[in-house]
Amino acid sequence: MKVGIFFFVDGKIIMDAAPVESGRPVGDTIQYGNEYEFWKTLHPQTSTEHSFKEWPYYAFPRGKVVYVPEKDVYRLYADQCLKRKDLESVIKHFGSEKAAVDIGNDQRYQCYKCNKYFHLFT
Ligand SMILES: [Zn+2]
Repeated sequence: MKVGIFFFVDGKIIMDAAPVESGRPVGDTIQYGNEYEFWKTLHPQTSTEHSFKEWPYYAFPRGKVVYVPEKDVYRLYADQCLKRKDLESVIKHFGSEKAAVDIGNDQRYQCYKCNKYFHLFT
C-alpha cells in the first residue's frame, strides 16, 4: 500500500503516490505529495489530465492516504461527495486491499460543489 494524494477528475483518479518508505513524517503520520506542486508541474498527457489542468486543483474532489505507524493502519481522507465505491477504487489504486484502512475526517477536502465559499477569480 502506498501513501499520497489523489483527485477525481471526470470520474477518473489522478494520483501521486509512493511507498511508505519514501514518505515524510507529519505529526504521527507518514505522508507523501504536495497538491499544488503536483498540479503545477504535471505535463498533461491524457484528456483527464488536461481537464485537471484547466481548473485549480482544489476544484476537484480530492483527498490523501496517510500511514499511521503507531496503529499500523492506513488512513484515507477524502471529500465528502466521494462515494463508497470511489473510496474503494482509491484504495485499490494505492495498493493492497489487505492493508487496514480507516476513514478520516478533514473538512479541508471540499471540491467546488461542496464548498459554498468556492469561487474562481476570473
Ligand atoms: Zn465535493
